[in-house]
This record gives sequence, C-alpha cells and structure tokens, in this order.
Amino acid sequence: NLRVNKLTIIEAYSVLEGDGVVCARQGAGYFVNSLNTSSANLKSTFAPAQNVIIPEQSGASFFEVHMSAVQAQTQKGMINFSGGLPRPPKDMALIGRRALTNVDTLFAYEVPQGVVTLRKQIAQMLVFQGLEVTSEDLIVTNGSEQALSLAMHYYVQPGDWVIVEAPTYHGAIAILENLGARIIGIPMNAEGINLELLKQYLDSHRPKLIYTISTLHNPTGITTTQAHRQELLTLAAKYECHILEDNAYEGLNFEPVPAPIKALDREDLVTYVGTFSKTLIPGLRVGYMVVTGKHIRALIERKLLQDIQTSSVSQAIVSEYLASGHYRRHRKRLQTENLISRNVMLQAIERYFPESARWTVPQGGLFLWVQLPDNVPIEAIRYQAMAENVLFASGSVFFPNKQGYPAMRLSFSNPSESEIDLGISILGKLLKNYSSS
Ligand code: PMP
Repeated sequence: NLRVNKLTIIEAYSVLEGDGVVCARQGAGYFVNSLNTSSANLKSTFAPAQNVIIPEQSGASFFEVHMSAVQAQTQKGMINFSGGLPRPPKDMALIGRRALTNVDTLFAYEVPQGVVTLRKQIAQMLVFQGLEVTSEDLIVTNGSEQALSLAMHYYVQPGDWVIVEAPTYHGAIAILENLGARIIGIPMNAEGINLELLKQYLDSHRPKLIYTISTLHNPTGITTTQAHRQELLTLAAKYECHILEDNAYEGLNFEPVPAPIKALDREDLVTYVGTFSKTLIPGLRVGYMVVTGKHIRALIERKLLQDIQTSSVSQAIVSEYLASGHYRRHRKRLQTENLISRNVMLQAIERYFPESARWTVPQGGLFLWVQLPDNVPIEAIRYQAMAENVLFASGSVFFPNKQGYPAMRLSFSNPSESEIDLGISILGKLLKNYSSS
C-alpha cells in the first residue's frame, strides 16, 4: 500500500514536460508528444562554400558589431534580426529574490572555480548529456566568452595556427586575432566542418587548436553529425591537436541532437564550454568550462588572476533557478516558441527571397544563415535595410578577416511573427533589386 506524495507526481510530470516527452493542455491534463516535429519535411538548401580562409592581417571588429547590437536592443520600431538574445524567463524576479534571501553565504569570497553547489548542478546536467564530469572538472566563468578567452590564451601562443569553422562566432575570432594566433577558416557543409580540408591542414600546418561550435552553430545553425564528431576527434588525437568545443546554444534544440564531442573524449583532448546566457539572461554573465585532466589547475589559477571569481550573486541566482525545476520548463518554452518563430521565418524566406538565395534549416538555436550569390553587395543592403528599420548581421563579420561570401545571419527569437513576416518581405524586396539587375 505505497503512498506517493502528490507534489512528487506534479514534479515528475514537469520533468517529462521539460524533456519534451509529454505536453500539458489546460483543463485536459497531460498528453504524450508525438516524436516527429513539424520541421521534418523542411529541406535545407544550404550550399557549402569550398574556399579555405587564411587571413593575411588582423581586422577585429567584434567591438563595433557588439556595440551596435547592444544599441539596437533599445531602438524603438526596429525589427531586430541581428542579436542573439533569448526570450526572458518569466519567473526570474521571484527566483532572484529567493536566491538573495540567503545573503549570509554571499558575503565571503568564493573559490575561483565557482560555488560548489552550482558546479555540482552543472555537472549533473552535463552527465545527463553523456559527459563524464564532476564538479572538480568545472570552472564557472564570466559568461562563456571568458571561458573561450582563458582556453584560447592557454592552448595557443602568438604565431600558432588555429583552425576554426568558416564562418564562425566573431567573438572567438576576435580573441584569436587579439592574441596573435594565425587562423585557418575551413568551410562547413551540412554535416559540419569539411573533414577532407581539415585533414590536409592538420597535416600541413600542425595547428594547436580546433575551435568548433558543434551544436546549433553560430552563425549557420548547423549541427555537426555524430559521424563527423567522431572523425573530428579521431583526427585531433592523431595530430595531437586540442579541441575547444563551444556549446553556447545547448538546450535550445527543438529536435534531438547528438551528444557533445566531449562525451566521446577519452584522452582529455576536448575542453568544453557552455553558458546560461542563451537560456536564461546574458547579463548574469554565468558560463562554464569543463577541463578534464592535467590542465584544470593552471586554468583555475588564470581565472583567479583575471577576476578572482564569477559574481556570487549571479551564481546564486542561476543555482536557485536550476534547483527550482523552472529551468526545464523555461527551456521547453523556449524550444516551443523558437520552433514556431523559425518556421514563420522559413516560410517568409521561401515566399519573399530571390531564388538564388540558399539557407540553413537549424534544429534549434536562435539563427539561420542565408547565403547569397557573390555579386550581392551585402553591406549596401544592410544600410538600406536599416533605413527601413530592419537589422541583420552581415555574414562577413563571421569569417576570419571578414573574407567570405555575401550572407546574412538572421535571428528568429526576438521579433514577433508579424515583424518576422514584414522584416523578411523588406529584405526580400532589397535582395530582388540586385538579383534582377
Ligand atoms: N559562444 C558563442 C557561439 C556565442 O554565440 C556567444 C555569444 N553570442 C558566446 C560564446 C559568448 O556568450 P556569453 O559570454 O554571454 O556566454
């Protein structure tokens, strides 16, 4: 005669809902979700580029791009496809207040690697994703940007070769340029980085590091396939090259995605980076890095030298959010709403963009990537679009030394459905002006 507490059952349903196994319908109860998603019949028309990019000189513009993205956030009437901002969590004020009631624990300094409770919670999340990790392998950082910076400065010396996907996250390019690395940008295809080219450059240049955004890549939205992940790791092991795996968009997938490369790593070759900026609030500045093996101590010391520790207040808020069970529900909400927005954007692109445009169909994240013919003057179009109150990120900033093909990164998570339709129709009109000439 076993009695189960009602709250346990409610929590169990909320966990199943968070994992996408069931969905709640108001007044009717919980229903089991079907496995296929509405995107299954959408085909990607992404056409991979072939050229490897090795910049001759540095041209970091992350600063300008970031400043204008921050300013755009508050510009009234602007349809903003530019930034990668998540939808804000509804219950953050409540959770934040609860986290701060226990102020006693917030008065003292913390160990540089971060509050142990939070590290245990993050480790648990990562174990769920297939990583073999404990709180001892984790450093809580000031956003994942700091984790990238710490890792890049540690593994790479000025003059060393580094391989990145082309295109890739401009904030990572900026760190590498700044530290004097020599960057090789290897094109991506729908499966991930071009492995043939990677092999050639590992052989000829003996790079120190491969930086990869393996899942829901920024800016393309591509998720590297399981087979590609395994091959990438095998190659890295063969050439004794470290991998820096950036999983900033973790948890924002609305279709199943493979486990991180770190989950396959048995030789401590992969340093893994994550963040709460995309699923909670970027301003909290809470990210983390997983460093298994001998390098962890040196990286903790570097973290100490940079800023002593990540804010205890921010760590307490994230920890409280994770403990509350709201995080799963919030991520589920983000996945559901982002999927709707992505589909609205895809339909609008099909309808308004010229036939020469090619685009990716991401399985989650915040962006999709539109590739345009070589003769399209993308910067001119960006200015014309701004004059019509539409902002997008021009593809060039995501290539080492801005040498790439004309492209747009379009964020679907911020604007409303009607804004997406209007904004894409304006961009389509501007693009057609050039494709017909
Ligand atoms: N990595 C990737 C791929 C990103 O897109 C971003 C932010 N746009 C970051 C890292 C840095 O984010 P944060 O420092 O806020 O965690």
